[in-house]
Amino acid sequence: MKAAELALYKKTLLELREKLVGNVNFMEDEALGKSRQDASGDLSNVPIHMADVGTDNYDRDLTIGLIQNGEEELRSIDEALERISNKKFGLCEECGKKVSKARLTALPYVKNCIECQRQEEESDKT
Ligand SMILES: [Zn+2]
Repeated sequence: MKAAELALYKKTLLELREKLVGNVNFMEDEALGKSRQDASGDLSNVPIHMADVGTDNYDRDLTIGLIQNGEEELRSIDEALERISNKKFGLCEECGKKVSKARLTALPYVKNCIECQRQEEESDKT
């Protein structure tokens, strides 16, 4: 992969990361019941529906689920950034083949190629 391409993926990953960190912090504050004023920060990063997150148990569970998803995503992003520094970015972790560019563009932190992803999903079903 060309250095310019890598730099672009890195930039995208860093931007995604920044956005996620903002969202996770915001949601944690919400889940802990802090007032919106205290949560402060830049709310422009927060998806609009998050502003409607309530405080009853169902919503709180939902928010905690979203935080966990967010943290998982963050981990994936960090791993992808690591792969960029290790020059392994764009290679499937399972089979070592190149991950398609379209796939990387859609999900820059994806670690498997489409074939391995499918196999994984198949085995999840059993
Ligand atoms: Zn693969």
